[in-house]
Amino acid sequence: MLQYPNLEQALKYHFGYDQFRPGQRQIIEDALQNRDLLIVMPTGGGKSLCFQLPALLKKGLTVVVSPLIALMQDQVEALRNNNISATFLNSSLNPYKVRSREEAILNGKVKLLYVAPERLLSERFLPFLDLVKEKIGIAAFAIDEAHCVSEWGHDFRPEYRQMKSLRKRYPNIPTLALTATATDRVRTDIIQQLGLKQPSIHIASFNRQNLYYEVRSKTKSAYAELLELIRENEGSAIIYCLTRKKVDELTFKLQNDQISALSYHAGLGDEERSNNQTRFIRDDVRVMVATIAFGMGINKPDVRLVIHFDLPRNLESYYQESGRAGRDSEPSRCTLFFSFSDIKTIEWSINQKTDPQEQLISKQQLRQVIDYAEGTVCRRTIQLGYFGERFPGNCGNCDNCRYPKPLQDWTIEAMKFLSCVARCKERFGMLHIIDVLRGGKNQKITQNEHDKLSTYGIGKDRTVDEWRMLGRSLLHQGLLEQTSDGYSVLKLNALSWEVMRRQRTVSLAVPVVQKITWEEGSEKAAEAEVLLQRLRSLRKQLADEQSVPPYVIFHDSTLKLMTQVQPKTITEFGKLSGVGSHKLAQYGDKFLAEIKAYRQEQGSQEQVKSTPFLGLPSDTELFTLQLYQQGLSVAEIAQKRNIRATTIIRHLADLIEKDQAVDLNQLVPLERQQKIWQVLEAVGDISLTPIREQLGESYSYDEIRLVRGKWRRENRN
Ligand code: ADP
Ligand code: ZN
Repeated sequence: MLQYPNLEQALKYHFGYDQFRPGQRQIIEDALQNRDLLIVMPTGGGKSLCFQLPALLKKGLTVVVSPLIALMQDQVEALRNNNISATFLNSSLNPYKVRSREEAILNGKVKLLYVAPERLLSERFLPFLDLVKEKIGIAAFAIDEAHCVSEWGHDFRPEYRQMKSLRKRYPNIPTLALTATATDRVRTDIIQQLGLKQPSIHIASFNRQNLYYEVRSKTKSAYAELLELIRENEGSAIIYCLTRKKVDELTFKLQNDQISALSYHAGLGDEERSNNQTRFIRDDVRVMVATIAFGMGINKPDVRLVIHFDLPRNLESYYQESGRAGRDSEPSRCTLFFSFSDIKTIEWSINQKTDPQEQLISKQQLRQVIDYAEGTVCRRTIQLGYFGERFPGNCGNCDNCRYPKPLQDWTIEAMKFLSCVARCKERFGMLHIIDVLRGGKNQKITQNEHDKLSTYGIGKDRTVDEWRMLGRSLLHQGLLEQTSDGYSVLKLNALSWEVMRRQRTVSLAVPVVQKITWEEGSEKAAEAEVLLQRLRSLRKQLADEQSVPPYVIFHDSTLKLMTQVQPKTITEFGKLSGVGSHKLAQYGDKFLAEIKAYRQEQGSQEQVKSTPFLGLPSDTELFTLQLYQQGLSVAEIAQKRNIRATTIIRHLADLIEKDQAVDLNQLVPLERQQKIWQVLEAVGDISLTPIREQLGESYSYDEIRLVRGKWRRENRN
């Protein structure tokens, strides 16, 4: 049956990849043996390939059941770009198109057919399938998003329930079920509901190594941090908010700050929503601000940043939503902003629920989210533990592992706090206790005569936030209780008394100021960036010509490889991971030409020693400019942005070169400028080191760089 010497070659030929991802090979072998399969892999694990490659290697048609029209179209577009004959049938097509596609199928011209479950099981379609089976054969059924059959899943779809009848009608056609849902209950349900026969079960680890997880407290500067995150991380971003109103407000603010952003929520009309989605997928807009309604049908592999600006409902949703980042395995960031007032809002809405069982579950789920957010151990350990997977910690790719919070002794403060709870007769909530500790003067205090207590005003040396952090931590560590009646009254327990009697110490993990991990690039990296941008524009142009998303042409990882390897020949180009036979033929020459043009310009640049490149300022440069114009010094900007001063100088030099309003005279004294200028005139645009050698050590690289910016601007042809 195999027409290829080995599976790796088939993988390279059809999809351009060099290697299988973990699990894929074994699954594909099982599929080729016609076994039933249950495949559980996290988002981005590479599930599709598990039925797509066997579909190409087997005789007959593989029928893929997929719940969402958008998903089908995405996958079919991506397959066609690898010259794989795939098609879909759904309600978006007119009868004429349906007829012609059906004909193509019956003529054996299609390897993969995507259909929605309701069509698959319709009176009209089943006889057609019988015909297909008779004429060309059905290789397999692949049930994508198989958790939709389960009422225990988060996305139950009644029409999936009918799928069992498919099994009855075609008992001998192998069936593959695929899902990213991690719970046991759903897995068992899938096997039962779909009637899988002794399925081979593959469960991949849910650890997404390429994702950086971090939690930040949602302080007053949260919006500024959000902006910084967007500006410092390249690529597409999704920002989740809890309500439509917040989505719209945030979108408006971001647009005001010159960020290319759009909204997505159920309040928008169908057309606007789907337009916004398309613009996001095609990289016409960078940031999607959305309620959780967004993302279900999104296959975009190159989302680099997922920010939860509000608290997620439960850990499973958080895992799935944040997991929309970095499906292509490239490094991506997941940031959760966490605030106490969000907890209050959610608690309030939970208390509105009438079903006590539901209330209990929601409370438990909220508790788990809080534990995750406040946790000081590896974020992965907590997340994966939630799915029953053991993870040893020390992942090196979460905030807690990279910036461990130092433990401090807060026993004295804890004693003050707890005795204040005692003095207030265990009848008040956290905010009131803090008010008393800090010597507040509100009505509640005077009415209760709490200003007469011995603990009144003994905690003025700490901020409200610090006290709150302590209070939360005491709850967390079980050294204090809180009623769950909606009033959150603080209550003491046996351990609280141990603390007050000095029989127990209290340590607190104190958050450290987190750095934005913005790696300063070397000169060489900056050059590679220029090439990468050029390749991106070429990709975008080609994608627009075909009305497909850019990632369908090449993934980011493949573009990066191109900039690293800079292939010179078509053979070299074909070796890059992500370049299959068809894409090589289709796009190889165009990308090679772009790389060649870039190299020639680089070469001629070195020869004539001038920089012909004049671009617009980048986002990050503009941010520096904005701060500079507000009168901040280089050092202040560097501190505010948490990046090195030399990087700020680099921005300013580039801004000068790009003719932006930066006054060089304020940065470098005039006579020093003149000296540097003379050397530049004499030696031309060479690198900084030899220029400095001419000038002597009293001249800094920074000064030379800044003056060179102006010199370049003046000497542009
Ligand atoms: P899932 O459906 O599990 O979320 P996909 O099937 O969409 O994941 O795959 C995620 C991304 O990984 C896709 O863009 C796909 O092209 C890519 N991919 C799949 N298998 C491989 C592989 N062996 N090597 C490189 N990339 C792969
Ligand atoms: Zn970690």
